Amino acid sequence: MNEVLRIAVQKSGRLSEDSLNLFKECGIKFDNGAGKLKATSSNFPAEFLFLRDDDIPGYVEDGVADIGIVGQNVHVETSKHVNEVKLLGFSKCRLSIAIPRSETYGSVKELEGKSIATSYPVILGNFLKDNGVTAHIHEISGSVEIAPSIGLAHAVCDIVSSGGTLLSNGLKEVEVIFRSEAIMIGYPNLSPEKQSIVNQILFRIDSVQRAKNRKYVVLNTKQENIALIRQLLPGMKAPSILPLADEGWVSMHSVIEEQDFWQNIEKLRDAGAEGILVLPIEKMIF
Ligand code: ATP
Ligand code: MG
Repeated sequence: MNEVLRIAVQKSGRLSEDSLNLFKECGIKFDNGAGKLKATSSNFPAEFLFLRDDDIPGYVEDGVADIGIVGQNVHVETSKHVNEVKLLGFSKCRLSIAIPRSETYGSVKELEGKSIATSYPVILGNFLKDNGVTAHIHEISGSVEIAPSIGLAHAVCDIVSSGGTLLSNGLKEVEVIFRSEAIMIGYPNLSPEKQSIVNQILFRIDSVQRAKNRKYVVLNTKQENIALIRQLLPGMKAPSILPLADEGWVSMHSVIEEQDFWQNIEKLRDAGAEGILVLPIEKMIF
């Protein structure tokens, strides 16, 4: 039987676009039209399930989905028995405790005996325990920021990215308790056939990610400058050197980290590089 890997992604929200792009950049085609709950890839043995992010760890634990993408916050909070396959670097945010702006704050000890509203009772509970603080955790599923102003809790613990929502609710951030990014989680007992499909995806993700940080650089120079310029272009192996139609001139091609390029640009020009082209790389395979 030909196995098909079931991949759970968030249906709509802050993880959706980057999750779908990740697979599309890997050349996996599928139709994710509005309202769809399931899609089968036309060119790769995979099927996508579009779900609420909170449900994804449970589906992966049960093996209903083979892999899934969620925020680490949701992964840790739901505490499901799944494998942590790969950190993905997008949907970065932090989970923080905030209190009314008018109040002073010295240390976490001041939360002793207070009530804190949150949708993350597990992560908050762990933080309080680690700090030897006993507080009442008031679990609510949404609109957490409003809790202090309506007298529901003294403080809140919620996801923060810019802090704008806190500010507009008269709160200030006093403790960052967890930092999160998107993570690929996996069913712990995948069949060898499905594991090999996951490995193919991971290989493709690595190729795409590697390419994103690197550029293909092409430049022209006089033959006598080759050795000096070569030192400034630490490429994959060695730069390719092609003769130009003009006698004594060559074109040098190399792949370098974008960061190295910007650091070395002046030195390259001083070393006699001309007509420098910097091109994006789509995939990079070692
Ligand atoms: P769902 O309807 O699927 O339950 P949701 O409302 O719970 O969605 P979103 O707000 O879409 O969730 O956030 C999904 C995940 O994206 C969060 O769990 C978190 O990991 C991350 N995230 C949340 N807020 C931000 C933000 N402002 N910037 C970047 N990432 C964020
Ligand atoms: Mg959710």
